[in-house]
Amino acid sequence: MRRNFSQLRLLPAALSIATVVSATSSAARTSRASQNSGSSTTVVIDAGHGGHDRGGIPGQSVAEKEMTLDVAQRLKSLLATSGYRVVMTRDSDVFVPLPTRVAIANSYGNAIFVCIHFNSAKRMGAGGIETYFYSRDSLPLASAIHYYVAGGAPSSNRGVRRRGFYVLRKTTIPAVLVECGFLTNPTEAAYAQTTSYRQKLAEEIAAGIRGRSSVASTLNSAQIAAGESIPLQSYIDQTKARSSDRSRSKRSSKKSSKTKSSKKKKSSQPAESEANATQKERGD
Ligand SMILES: [Zn+2]
Repeated sequence: MRRNFSQLRLLPAALSIATVVSATSSAARTSRASQNSGSSTTVVIDAGHGGHDRGGIPGQSVAEKEMTLDVAQRLKSLLATSGYRVVMTRDSDVFVPLPTRVAIANSYGNAIFVCIHFNSAKRMGAGGIETYFYSRDSLPLASAIHYYVAGGAPSSNRGVRRRGFYVLRKTTIPAVLVECGFLTNPTEAAYAQTTSYRQKLAEEIAAGIRGRSSVASTLNSAQIAAGESIPLQSYIDQTKARSSDRSRSKRSSKKSSKTKSSKKKKSSQPAESEANATQKERGD
């Protein structure tokens, strides 16, 4: 069952994107059936974590690395069937360093990079789907993937967010990181542990990849420009962002001064602080 986006509670930072997606949902759905053909695009699929890097937070019962690999393999199969060239940064339970993952992605032309993760938080109630991008070129892909995954999942919509994760910052091709729900949330963890739900996630991500052009083409230039105004989140601004982003943040957020004294402090926005728990694992 696909949700009506207009009924979902949206975070302010995601509002401009979500509004665009909502406004274009009819067009995207209409063209969905026509987006099934393969293309010359290479899709580099990055299953988060692996090997000694289990993912998630200490004490987490469900291993994130297993969930990400399973969804990635299902996605690989779906995309291959659609005629895409698919490359996996890992296809088994092995540890692959982040620079290696980026190098694999950057070695392909006419390619896109899709990182699959699940979220975690100390607060069990934290839940929802969120999708990250960094470069402007990655926004249409992020919007399309998020539209389908958040629309197809029973979880809440945490929005499309801009953040400088290593794998998003260092890749030279459109790159998106999708968080497919919280494994520390009992309900979302239960879903994630079913093969049918992981298949569903893979199908929605694949739909986003296939439909990325149609979703993007319905965004006019003003709306694309609005996407650029999505701020980098404050704790990233002070630690890993480039100087231009950092100065922009200083101008735009007084609240950020509170976190300047410590790189480890959480964001001042409670609803977004959960993501800090997985900051390290994704390369930041
Ligand atoms: Zn992860």
